[in-house]
Amino acid sequence: MDKTCSIVQDLLPLYEEDMLREETKKFVDGHLAQCAACRAELDALKTDVKPAPVSAPRKRWKNCST
Ligand SMILES: [Zn+2]
Repeated sequence: MDKTCSIVQDLLPLYEEDMLREETKKFVDGHLAQCAACRAELDALKTDVKPAPVSAPRKRWKNCST
């Protein structure tokens, strides 16, 4: 893994929380713009932090069978 990637990915949780200083944020932004791997990492982080809306369990149409 690229060294910058590991730095950026270390920062991603803070980036996601908007806890970074402006200049650090710009650094992360700039890297994300050109690094798909880190963007994917950020995406994964987002789905971790904000649980996807629980999809309704599939109805099983019990009443319909038989
Ligand atoms: Zn990267």
